[in-house]
Amino acid sequence: MVRTRFAPSPTGYLHIGGLRTALYAYLFAKKNGGKFILRIEDTDQNREVAGAVDIIISALDKAGIHYDEGPIVGGDYGPYVQSERKEIYLKYAQKLLESGDAYCCFCSKERLAEMHEKGATKYDKHCLHLSKQEVQERIAKGEPYVIRQNIPESGTSTYHDEVFGDVTVDFKDLEDNILIKSDGMPTYNFANVIDDHLMGITHCIRGVEYLMSTPKYNLLYDALGWKRPVYIHLQPIMRDSQHKLSKRDGDAGFEDFLRKGFLPHAIVNYIALLGWNPKNNREKLSMDELIESFSIDGLQKSSSIFDETKMRWLNSLYVKEMSAEDFHTAAVPYYNEYYPNKNIDYVYLSELLQSRVEVLSDIKERAAFLDAFDSFDTELFVNKKWKTTVDMAKELIDDCIKATESADLNTALESLAESKGLKKGQVLWIYRIALTGAIATPGGGAEMVKLFGKEEALRRLNAVKKILGA
Ligand code: GLU
Repeated sequence: MVRTRFAPSPTGYLHIGGLRTALYAYLFAKKNGGKFILRIEDTDQNREVAGAVDIIISALDKAGIHYDEGPIVGGDYGPYVQSERKEIYLKYAQKLLESGDAYCCFCSKERLAEMHEKGATKYDKHCLHLSKQEVQERIAKGEPYVIRQNIPESGTSTYHDEVFGDVTVDFKDLEDNILIKSDGMPTYNFANVIDDHLMGITHCIRGVEYLMSTPKYNLLYDALGWKRPVYIHLQPIMRDSQHKLSKRDGDAGFEDFLRKGFLPHAIVNYIALLGWNPKNNREKLSMDELIESFSIDGLQKSSSIFDETKMRWLNSLYVKEMSAEDFHTAAVPYYNEYYPNKNIDYVYLSELLQSRVEVLSDIKERAAFLDAFDSFDTELFVNKKWKTTVDMAKELIDDCIKATESADLNTALESLAESKGLKKGQVLWIYRIALTGAIATPGGGAEMVKLFGKEEALRRLNAVKKILGA
């Protein structure tokens, strides 16, 4: 059975690239009737951030990427948090020590620094040559040590990656990595192998930064007599042709996009296509459709550039599809943030805005007219296209008030235009400006009256009458 995993480090942040790795691993497992596992890689405890695991779990949940095994839900291969598996790694490190595939290293920081200062690019295997007896004595004395992988000094190693094809690495370019640190915790270089094997991972899907170190992991699989997984390395998501989309850009996190008002599935849909081609020319796909069409041969070897404009467009398709009720619920936090306590019908505002926003944070701009009236600018009555003037507004304002009081606003405005020998558009312009004080509104005068209610509309028009000195 296919088993894939997502193995994030708890850094307090789920990068959009990490989310995409999780997504591909999920899609591949589900497409093949397999299981998707979440494993928390928290062995670098310096990097750990409180609450970070919850952030990952909640992000995956919002994204609709449901794991079959992992923290909280458990499973047959747990624990799924590496810091809880310390003893397991030590046991296998011991085996490697016995077979000579690993060795204890007592080198001090100072010695290593000096070695590098003298131009060394990798560890010089100094401690490999210590006698067994010396090693035992130094351990017994309580001297701190690490366990290093013993990598052959010459030769090459080739393995097959499903995206990149055959990858060959020269052993002389590889360092004798630390497998177990002096605090007894494993490094990623060791734990990933042990866990992928013990958790029955069949396909290892991860970032391309591990492509060239995979031969080291393969040596460990071989030394322990284990079958290697199928490797699928993924190109990063780029900000432009030179730079990765990074946390430093301030908006590379899944949560950052949610805050901007992107819908979770729109993000998932967009990033799915950023590095994978469904080969059906479709751009809008539900999670079930993504699963259905997913295949490894659609993964791209070249990196992809993140295009927020495209994601906005895709998001707008999902926004338009929402029920009016769902859209309103999603919009309320934005009203509360930008335009709280306005005397308007917020449900109706949602109705007006739904087709006019691409992402929910567009509400700020689209509803800016709600604040415009507070600093009414009579110059807005002047419109070149309609040839309207402030004087015209002055002449019409009383009739605009009357029209608002009438039972049929539209007809009243139409006859107003006729009686004054004006175009309807001229009257409508003046009417809408008088009501809102804004050039851009998500609807015409009639919609604005409905939004404000008759009473508030009349209050506004009378205030404008005063401003105009009419
Ligand atoms: N903990 C690693 C990372 O966050 C996971 C790499 C892997 O998937 O093997 O980069």
